[in-house]
Amino acid sequence: MNEIKTDILIIGSGAAGLTAGVYAAQLHKKVLVIDKGAVGKSGSTVGAVQMAGLGEWSNPLDDERAYMRDIENSGRGLSDPALAKTLVNDISKRIEDLTSWGLKLDRDKSDQAAVYPTAGHSLPRSISARKGKTGLGILQTLIRKAKTLSENLHTWSDVITLDLVKSSTRVIGAVVFDLKKNKPYVIKAKAVILATGGIGQLYPTTSNPVQSTGDGYSLGLGAGASLIDMEQVQFYPVSLVTPRSVAGLCISFYHYSNLYNTFGERFMETYEPETLENTTRDKLSIAIASEVVAGRGSDHGGVWLDISSQLEKVKKEFLHEFNICMDRGIDLTHGYAEVGPAAHFMMGGVHIDVNTASSVPGLYVAGETAGGLHGGNRLGNNALTECLVFGAKAGINAAWESNNYEDQSTVTAEALSPFATKLLDTMSRSVSGSVKSYQIKQRIQEILGTHVAVLRTDEGLKQAAKQLEAVDDLLDQVEMSTEVNYSRELIDYVEGAHMLRTAKAIVGAALHRKESRGAHFNSDHPSPASNIYHTFVTKENEQVVIHTSPKGEK
Ligand SMILES: Cc1cc2nc3c(=O)[nH]c(=O)nc-3n(C[C@H](O)[C@H](O)[C@H](O)COP(=O)(O)OP(=O)(O)OC[C@H]3O[C@@H](n4cnc5c(N)ncnc54)[C@H](O)[C@@H]3O)c2cc1C
Repeated sequence: MNEIKTDILIIGSGAAGLTAGVYAAQLHKKVLVIDKGAVGKSGSTVGAVQMAGLGEWSNPLDDERAYMRDIENSGRGLSDPALAKTLVNDISKRIEDLTSWGLKLDRDKSDQAAVYPTAGHSLPRSISARKGKTGLGILQTLIRKAKTLSENLHTWSDVITLDLVKSSTRVIGAVVFDLKKNKPYVIKAKAVILATGGIGQLYPTTSNPVQSTGDGYSLGLGAGASLIDMEQVQFYPVSLVTPRSVAGLCISFYHYSNLYNTFGERFMETYEPETLENTTRDKLSIAIASEVVAGRGSDHGGVWLDISSQLEKVKKEFLHEFNICMDRGIDLTHGYAEVGPAAHFMMGGVHIDVNTASSVPGLYVAGETAGGLHGGNRLGNNALTECLVFGAKAGINAAWESNNYEDQSTVTAEALSPFATKLLDTMSRSVSGSVKSYQIKQRIQEILGTHVAVLRTDEGLKQAAKQLEAVDDLLDQVEMSTEVNYSRELIDYVEGAHMLRTAKAIVGAALHRKESRGAHFNSDHPSPASNIYHTFVTKENEQVVIHTSPKGEK
C-alpha cells in the first residue's frame, strides 16, 4: 500500500486539529492535517457562536478560581479537576495568541470586547468574533496562520481515516482512504493526534454537521485507548423540531425565552423555580423530555418557545440565528416556535491526561473527541475554549514526543487491524448485497433515538445493546460499488462502521451507570448515587468491555 511519512499526523481539521497543527508546526515539526471533508470548513466548529474565557475584558470579579468552580459545579462531580485547571489557566494566553494572529473580537458600544452571560457561568465571560460567527472566525484565523507555516504544515482534504496503525503497543500512524482518488494509504507518524469532533449524527435529530459520526471514539477504541463516561451525551435543550429542514438548529438565546407546554403552562416553574429556563442544558433537556413523555408536548414532540418579552435583546445579541429562523418561516416576532432537545455534544470521550496523552503511547486527543473535562454537563461556550487550550497542548506535546521516537519500518498488510482489513476488503471491490450503507447509519440513529436519548430505562438500554449487535450483520450484507470517485456509499460505509463501534460504547457505558447524573437520566434509577464513579470502555478481541471506577481511579 502507498505509504506517506510525517512527524505528526492530525486527524480532523476543526478548531482542535488546526490549533494542534499550528502549535506543532511552530516547533518545526513536519505536520500533516487530514480531514474527510474540506480542511478548515467541515466539522462543528463552523457553527459555534461564542467562546467562554478570561482576558483583559473579564469582569473584575472573575478569575481562574471562579471559572473552575463553575465547571466543577456543572460537571455533576464527573469533571476532571486537573483538566479544568489547565483550561482556566491557559485560555487567556490562547485567546491572546489568536488575536495576535488576526482574530478580531466583537466590540460593544464603548469599543470594548463585548462580553455576554451564559447559563451556568456565574459571571458573564462569553466573547464572540466575526459578528457571532466565532467558530468560523477562529478557523479562518488558524488557516491564515497555518499558511505562514506552510513549510512544515500540510493539509489534505477528502481523506477518511479507517483505523489507526500500531506497532506493538504504540500508535505509529493510520490507514486512510483518499476519496478523490479511491485509493488507500498508510500514513506513518511519530505521534498521532485525534481531533475528529463529536457524535451528533448517531441520533436522528442533531445540531451537528454531517461529519460528526463519532469516528474518533471508534478509532481510539480500536487502538486500545480507554473511553471515559461515554453515556454523557449532551442534548441541546432548545432546538427547532420542525420544519425538518432546520430540525436540530440550536436556539442559543433560550435563556431569554419563556417555554410553554401544550396546555400553556410555563412548566419550568415546577422543575427549576429559581432559574426557570436559564438553567443548565442537562436539567432543561430532562424537563422538556419529561413534559413530552407525560403527553404535554407539542404536535412534533417538543414544547413552545416564546421570546416576545425579550425580542430586542435577542435581535441585538443573536441577529444571525434570529435571521435564520425568519428565513425559514419561523417568525419569532409574532409567534411561537416548536422546540426540543437535539443531540449536541459528547462530554465523554477518549480519556486523556493534562498533556492530552491517551493511555496508548503515541496517541494524543484534543477537542470534543477527548473526554473528562466537562463531566456530566458542559457549560455553554466551553467547547471552543477546550479546543484552543487542549489543541495547543496536543500539538506541543506531540512535537516533543516526536523528538524521541524514530521508526523506519514499513507497515505491511498483516500489520493492519482486522477492522481496517475488513473495511478495505469491502471497499476494494464491487460487492452485491441487500443493504445500502446509508441504511446502517439510519438504523443506528433509530436505535439511539428510541432508547438512548434524554430519558433512558434499563430495559430500553438492553434493547439498544441487542439491536446494535444485529447491525453487525448489516455491515456484512452491504452492497458496494467502487467505480465512482468520491462515493457517498464508501463514506457512509466507513462512517457506519465507526458509528456502530461508538454506539456500542455509549450504550455499554449507559447500562453501567446505575444512577441519574448529569445528562444521563435513567427513569429506573432517577437519583444520583452517593458515590461518584466513572464508566470506562475499552476493546478486547473486537468486543467493547466496560467497567466502572471510583472518581480518581482508572
Ligand atoms: C450548531 C453548533 C453550535 C455550537 N455552538 C457553540 C458555541 O457557541 N460555543 C462553543 O464553545 N461550542 C459550540 N459548539 C460546540 C463546538 O462547536 C464543538 O464542540 C467544537 O467546535 C468541536 O471542535 P473539534 O475540533 O473537536 O471538532 P470538529 O470541529 O467537529 O472537527 C472535526 C473534524 O474531523 C473530521 N473528521 C471526522 N472523522 C474523520 C475521519 N474518520 N477521518 C478524517 N477526518 C475526520 C471532520 O470532517 C471535521 O472536520 C457548537 C456545536 C454545534 C454543532
